[in-house]
Amino acid sequence: MKRMEAGMRVLVVGSGGREHALCWAIAASPLLTKLWCAPGNPGIAAVAECVPITAEDIPGLVAFARAQKVELVVPGPEGPLVAGITDAMEEAGIPCCGPSRAAAQLEGSKSFTKELCDSAGIPTARWERFDDAAAAREFVRRRGAPLVVKADGLTGGKGVVVAATEALALAAIDRMMEARSFGEAGGSVVIEECLTGEEVSFFALCDGSHAIPLGAAQDHKRVGDGDTGPNTGGMGAYSPPPVFTPALEAAALDQIVRPALAEMARQGTPFRGILYAGLMLTDDGPKLIEFNVRFGDPECQVLMPRLQSDLLPALVAARDGELAHFDLRWRREAVVGVVLASSGYPEAPKPTGELRGLTEAAAVPGAEMFHAGTKLDAQGHLLPAGGRVLTVCATGPDLRRARDAAYAAVDKIDWPEGFCRRDIGWRALGTA
Ligand code: AMP
Repeated sequence: MKRMEAGMRVLVVGSGGREHALCWAIAASPLLTKLWCAPGNPGIAAVAECVPITAEDIPGLVAFARAQKVELVVPGPEGPLVAGITDAMEEAGIPCCGPSRAAAQLEGSKSFTKELCDSAGIPTARWERFDDAAAAREFVRRRGAPLVVKADGLTGGKGVVVAATEALALAAIDRMMEARSFGEAGGSVVIEECLTGEEVSFFALCDGSHAIPLGAAQDHKRVGDGDTGPNTGGMGAYSPPPVFTPALEAAALDQIVRPALAEMARQGTPFRGILYAGLMLTDDGPKLIEFNVRFGDPECQVLMPRLQSDLLPALVAARDGELAHFDLRWRREAVVGVVLASSGYPEAPKPTGELRGLTEAAAVPGAEMFHAGTKLDAQGHLLPAGGRVLTVCATGPDLRRARDAAYAAVDKIDWPEGFCRRDIGWRALGTA
């Protein structure tokens, strides 16, 4: 604990809304002396010093962390984790709160996770892996639809097809395995039983052997109102999801998260960092759809405002293997987050125009704006710089009032070239 009495020097890696929310939470810690974010964005610059090193430049990040005597690195996105940023930092003597490259396989490979589920008895969809397209097609014909076809490797969330018909499943196999539309990630596919129920994202902070809950949220993946149109990185989220009762959370911890940690440790690749369990709440209880090895985006943006405890010592304890007696307090309030995106997102985003009215939006009681793809021009105007541009969040005494406040803030933002969904929270609140 000596380290913390002296105050901590922390580096967050990434540049999205998730990293803005992480920086915002860490910046509030009285234990912090200096916060950097690489590469960050104009919103993050309000709470951290941004350094122009990309999240993929691991040697550059290690050199920076060493030169600045960084005492904790917090990687936001999966890319650097799967590429081994934690191993590289730790080898250089810099503590890093994230999984090793070996443990990050939980996100990097679908079949790795499915095998782990089988050996640890974790409830999940029945599955099979295929390296050969003919065998995959034959399996689809034998089983019949609905089925879910997944590219085995990392595809930025795009390599999953929920196929309602046999023809759609066969077309997905052709695209992934023959046309290689996801490159090597589609060299093999996992074909799964199709689960039905409500989906919940459940997060746990892990220290290799212990896990403590980091809250749950519901995400909105489709681009359009009423869950229509193509899948996106996420168009909004809310927390807490009323369907995820304390009993279901306990079941998810006991049947999914803890057995996964125990099995990872048994295999010699203990998991430290943030474990994201994508769950389907089926009639037979929660089943695992996927693990990710980091916070979700935009889920992180709706969880951080609900966290009452100091995040920084929790991240240190996770890195140090000391979570056994750790506890995090959460506010009772709800948070709704609405993503503002450039027109054309997700297929062909056209970031144009200027973002105005953020000060007015921030003045809405409970509102908090997290930047993703934004940039400043030479005159200091805020411009869009990507597909997802802002997550406009608001805290309220319940979901309905949080949603009203979030849309009141959204409506203060003057950016006619952008768009958002108007129905975030509909599963809990209806669309009215
Ligand atoms: P994944 O990348 O594995 O999370 O899959 C992306 C999305 O596909 C999930 O969020 C679910 O909506 C859907 N999905 C994946 N696997 C299944 C399954 N076995 N049954 C039903 N839907 C699924």
